[in-house]
Amino acid sequence: MCTGRVDPAFIFRAFSRGADGVLIGGCWPGECHYVTEGNYEALNMTDRCKKLLEQIGLNPDRLRIEWVSASEGNRFAEIVTNFTKQLKELGHLGVGEGKDPEQLRIDLEAAESYIRKKLISYYIDPDKCQACMICLKKCPVGAIIGGKNQIHVIDQENCIGCSICFQSCPPRFEAVKRILAEPVPPPIPEEARIIVRKGEER
Ligand code: SF4
Ligand code: SF4
Repeated sequence: MCTGRVDPAFIFRAFSRGADGVLIGGCWPGECHYVTEGNYEALNMTDRCKKLLEQIGLNPDRLRIEWVSASEGNRFAEIVTNFTKQLKELGHLGVGEGKDPEQLRIDLEAAESYIRKKLISYYIDPDKCQACMICLKKCPVGAIIGGKNQIHVIDQENCIGCSICFQSCPPRFEAVKRILAEPVPPPIPEEARIIVRKGEER
């Protein structure tokens, strides 16, 4: 339902399975149906994936993102027709670029595995989290562990990188951090997660 949900691994999986191109169609910037503005995330993600395609010797034009709302049927048809024409001109994946099929398979597998290690991760800074529970309630996959007066923690195994927690953590806390292509710090131990507020000390 949201381009913010398009995991870069989906793109490389599609190429690994033989797609000659991948088209992502999203809502126009500024017209997000939710509050996440996931289309901006998708734009950044597409840009990074294009660079990765280039690095493995594939034409980055094989990946395209377009803004097209549900009411713009004609525009959608035009985009698909135009993209199909462009892909025919580029030739089949790898063939148009003169890549050896086996090397193409290896490179795409490596790209997908690199992506799977996550270009972007989200992490809750334990020194800043105020346990307001907003992110926990909004996470679409229940990947945030927390509760009242408990510093929240992201379960990295279950996180799908949608960025909703990053977007929804109140600016006065700014507790959710975006980590680019670096390891995520380990979660703080459970016994250290209780927040004792002023006036609540025993
Ligand atoms: S933890 Fe944050 S980035 Fe991960 S799935 Fe939940 S809301 Fe999305
Ligand atoms: S929204 Fe921010 S402050 Fe609130 S629980 Fe989540 S990480 Fe902590």
